Amino acid sequence: MHSMSPSDASGAIGLPSFFNTRGRKVEPLTIAEPGRASIYTCGPTVYRYAHLGNLRSFLLADLVVRICQFAGLKTRQVVNITDIGHMTDEVTGEGDDKILLAAEVEGKSPSEIADFYTGAFLDDCALAGMTPADDYPRASKHISEMIELIECLLDKGNAYVSGGSVYFDVSTFPGYGSLSGNSLKQLKPGHRKVVTDPQKRRAEDFLLWKAAGPRRLVKFPSPWSEGYPGWHIECSAMSLKLLGDRIDIHTAGIDLVFPHHEDEIAQSDAATGHRVVGHWIHGEHLLMSGNKMAKSAGNTLRMTDIAESGLDPLAFRLLMFGARYRKQVHFSMEALEAADTSLTRLRRAFGDLGEPLPLDELEMSSSATRAHEEFSKAVMSDIDTATAVRVLYSTASNRSIPSIQRVSLAAAWDRILGLNLTDTQSTHTPEPKISGEEVLELIKARDAARASRDFTEADRIRDRLAEAGVVLTDTPAGTDWYHG
Ligand SMILES: [Zn+2]
Repeated sequence: MHSMSPSDASGAIGLPSFFNTRGRKVEPLTIAEPGRASIYTCGPTVYRYAHLGNLRSFLLADLVVRICQFAGLKTRQVVNITDIGHMTDEVTGEGDDKILLAAEVEGKSPSEIADFYTGAFLDDCALAGMTPADDYPRASKHISEMIELIECLLDKGNAYVSGGSVYFDVSTFPGYGSLSGNSLKQLKPGHRKVVTDPQKRRAEDFLLWKAAGPRRLVKFPSPWSEGYPGWHIECSAMSLKLLGDRIDIHTAGIDLVFPHHEDEIAQSDAATGHRVVGHWIHGEHLLMSGNKMAKSAGNTLRMTDIAESGLDPLAFRLLMFGARYRKQVHFSMEALEAADTSLTRLRRAFGDLGEPLPLDELEMSSSATRAHEEFSKAVMSDIDTATAVRVLYSTASNRSIPSIQRVSLAAAWDRILGLNLTDTQSTHTPEPKISGEEVLELIKARDAARASRDFTEADRIRDRLAEAGVVLTDTPAGTDWYHG
């Protein structure tokens, strides 16, 4: 019998390899603690919806987590939620925070805005079939850790206070530029153009803490001023707090290499005195009509747009898998429709083959073994989804592999692909027509109507819920409900 699990006792497959932006080569993952991988992913700034371009970055993080698990590692993934506006491009020329601006425009409080878009982000990730992270820390809840880290950098002589703000002194960190390949010399001209901050000693120094201006509503006390943290210190502080000072993998989109990650390395490595992140994995852009998909370019689409167009949101995954993550991908609805059709065909091909079994319970044919080796090698070699998907297609139509083995392979590979390949129904995951919160509110209203013996209203609410696919059962302990 061929042993098929990648994490079996022989350990033949070992650890996955990824391209490491730091060093610019594909190298095997090294892990700080045997059997475990810690993963930090730069999360969204929650004052607007995430678009498909953002989702491509988070899909990369999802793949990295799934591949580590496929290799038999236990994973811990942290995705931060930036709920204080402080990125350079998220603060307008007047220093207005875009979360606050959005709050003004939408007539909500800043925390309502942050909660709303955090919820929308998590819904989008779920639609895209992503495994939830283990923790989604919010920046606003970790200000004290950021202040502590800044104090540590001041103590070590890596930072200075100027006019109530605190800056990182880049000249004290010799490795600065190693991630992005920007030497300090190269950086200077680029920085000089945009420098407007007279408090800085040098153009390339960056902000750790900013004293609040008169218009700033959300600010926090600190030893230096009432103010708010820089964006980069947020990720250093939360990753060190939640994952410790040896983090195996850090993922994000390619546009965060400089300055965000360069600055994160300077802060974290200077504070701890050693290299904190082992592997930096960055994903390329999603293009639409030839341009990077971005809010500013006005060419964004959301996951919910895919669902509303009647296509399966998971077709987005299959479409993205067609290219490696380090390649730019052109998005079009036509390509997405083609991916949707392919997904339906794949499910049909695997759907009629019976119940999948764990691979190690099967006597595998040599062609099944070969297919599994090819698939495993592809995903373990710098996330070669393009090859993995080719193996999937050829296996779907390979009748020399017995049915039970084919469907079992599909089920095993789906732990990485997340395409619901072996669901017998055509698994369009319909977007719930009504949120859990709305259901609870309606049930409350119905209970009140029943209590005041307004049965017409109670029935109306029951019908309204039934239309949305929610079935109610009245029990002595209250009303139970489920999506029918
Ligand atoms: Zn970050």
